[in-house]
Amino acid sequence: MPKNILKVALDVPLDRLFDYLDGGFSVQVGQRVVVPFGRRNVVGVVIEKSDSSEFALEKLKTIIQVFDDELPIDPSTFSLLKFCADYYQYPFGQALLASLPKRLRQTEPAVSRKQYLYSLTPEGMGADIDLIPARQSVQRKVFAALQQSTLSESALKEISASWRQAIEAFRMQGWVHAEQVLAGFKSAMEAAPPPPLNDEQQVAVNAVTEAANTFKPFLLHGITGSGKTEVYMQILQQALADNDGQALVLVPEINLTPQLEARFRNRLPHLPLVSLHSNLGESERLKNWRLAQSGQARIIIGTRLAVFTPIPNLKIVMVDEEHDGSYKQQDSMRYHARDVAMVRAQRSKVPIVMGSATPALEAWHNAQSGKYTLLSLHSRAVAQSALPNIRCIDTTKQESTNGLTQVLVHAMRERLAKGEQSLLFINRRGYSPVLLCSACHWIAPCMRCSSRLVVHLKQGRLRCHHCGHEQKIVRQCPSCGNADLHPTGHGTQRLEETLKALFPTARIQRVDRDSTSRKEALNDILTAVHDNEIDILIGTQMLAKGHDFPNLTLVGVIDTDSALFSPDFRAAERLFAQLMQVSGRAGRAEKPGEVLIQTAFPSHHLFNALRTQDYPAYAQTLLQEREMAQFPPYCYLALIKAESTQYREVEQFLNFAFELARQRSDQVLTYDPMRAQMEKLKGMERGHILMQATQRGALQKLLAALTPQLRASKLAAKLRWNIDVDPMEF
Ligand code: ADP
Ligand code: ZN
Ligand code: ZN
Repeated sequence: MPKNILKVALDVPLDRLFDYLDGGFSVQVGQRVVVPFGRRNVVGVVIEKSDSSEFALEKLKTIIQVFDDELPIDPSTFSLLKFCADYYQYPFGQALLASLPKRLRQTEPAVSRKQYLYSLTPEGMGADIDLIPARQSVQRKVFAALQQSTLSESALKEISASWRQAIEAFRMQGWVHAEQVLAGFKSAMEAAPPPPLNDEQQVAVNAVTEAANTFKPFLLHGITGSGKTEVYMQILQQALADNDGQALVLVPEINLTPQLEARFRNRLPHLPLVSLHSNLGESERLKNWRLAQSGQARIIIGTRLAVFTPIPNLKIVMVDEEHDGSYKQQDSMRYHARDVAMVRAQRSKVPIVMGSATPALEAWHNAQSGKYTLLSLHSRAVAQSALPNIRCIDTTKQESTNGLTQVLVHAMRERLAKGEQSLLFINRRGYSPVLLCSACHWIAPCMRCSSRLVVHLKQGRLRCHHCGHEQKIVRQCPSCGNADLHPTGHGTQRLEETLKALFPTARIQRVDRDSTSRKEALNDILTAVHDNEIDILIGTQMLAKGHDFPNLTLVGVIDTDSALFSPDFRAAERLFAQLMQVSGRAGRAEKPGEVLIQTAFPSHHLFNALRTQDYPAYAQTLLQEREMAQFPPYCYLALIKAESTQYREVEQFLNFAFELARQRSDQVLTYDPMRAQMEKLKGMERGHILMQATQRGALQKLLAALTPQLRASKLAAKLRWNIDVDPMEF
């Protein structure tokens, strides 16, 4: 039987493939096709060819077009996407189509045909022309010409107007291979010579290099400036030296790609490099994606979506700042690019290097247990760049105005007088208030699940966002009797005004989502800082990363305590990472830096670890806490989230899901439906149920059974819902 039934993946919210007839087109697996779907024509990708369908043949529609001049998407790429779609409970077709550059999701051809070169494959070169029947004169002519040289389309056209059928026949036999001709790589310049590595760097480079062609995960731990990037570059140099190999390098933020790109190009100019991130124009993104797919790009640097780029000769995977939260996609398919990168490296049997100054506890745990090989860089690579001096200001002992202590104000005034810059770091994203006793530091706990209760002042309630438990706000500390209990967390809105009043002549700049929404805004601000046109920066985590400000000598940290005691079990881990990063901003050049942290808990172990830059010690304590509370990495979590204008509908749906989950598994603990931490967002009432298991497999099994039932339910059709596996936000 001819395999003329095509199983096609489409961008529709149904988790299945769709059968079409090939209509006589010769179609390969992985090719894009245009098919009728409902009243529209849509693009799909052929996943399988078959001689049978579960539907009656006369019911099947026929494809309209095949983009046969494109390299097909290779099965390993779509099998990775299939794995992720299953793992993250998302329709495969949508996952696959979303991973493609936008131009490839449109029904028009994505590039003009002129841009292809055809050449014989090794099989083609081994084939005898007499295998082609004499009556196929065009095929014989084309074949003979290809034996002489690689041919462009215009050259082929000169041989015969019907050259395309001939090429197609050869392609079916695996004799011919098409390659896009793309301009774009800068000509090789002289490579900057590498510095000699220090011992720890050398150990790291050797360890990864020796693991070539095997799956082996490495965690490269070293503070900012310890020489991690240097290690990456020398690993790339080795890994891609005598082969056609390619490397995938993931970075957390678009802002960080140009810097890394420039360093890589400078050091490895002979290795064609492309970047892939959402700031690229559509045609550039397509071009870069294709250069990766065709094997011509040797280094692919990109943000989380790049993890799905087809890379045929993958030799090594790197994930810079692996702990960064932006690797987790927060809508559509909620994947974590670091975890996907790991799966990808495993399937491709190549080493993966994850670097960080403050690894995610999940990664650190794996390094401690030996699942990952730990590579440590203990000191800064350049000796004269000293670590900053970090001190806490006890806010219970110091007077303060609108959240600013005298000590900090004084330190800023000094910097202004010397013409140096200060950064005030505010840390306030997503932290909910807890009820804290200022006398004995008691914090209202959840009796049911060792989480912390969140204050909901309006309703006068304390609520657990882990298990759903609720109670009235207590008025008196049960531990010491103090009647002065209050929610932590200062208002930071007035900070800018306070600063303006204190320093009327200072040039103050706020850096947050609002002030940087324009595309170039952040860059403009950074340039202004470099040109000394700004005296005081106020910023959130956007500022913490990767930027070097030589004249910045003071970092003031405000409002950390709500994160120290947040009900979000990851808050302390994130705070530590941010403070490590932000303290790295002070005194990078010859001027020594100072970091002042305002807190009511100066003896908290987080600050002790920070002062000595001792991540391992702090990670150890956090892991112990997590183990006691049975939080990740000691368990696996998933959320079923729902939102609607009516909470009643959310509740109905979640109750339905809850009952299903309870019936189906005793290895997964399913908590009652509850409102989300952010109860209402953009007019939608939000809720979720949390599922927890000690085995990933048990949770996966339950979700796999549950998802189709939820998709099919009438309740689901009434609202928006999704499943978040390994959630980072609640
Ligand atoms: P990280 O990526 O850990 O922040 P980098 O690799 O950027 O660290 O190194 C910090 C600085 O030290 C850079 O200016 C880099 O050129 C320099 N550097 C790194 N390794 C060495 C080395 N072995 N010898 C001399 N300078 C080095
Ligand atoms: Zn108390
Ligand atoms: Zn609880």
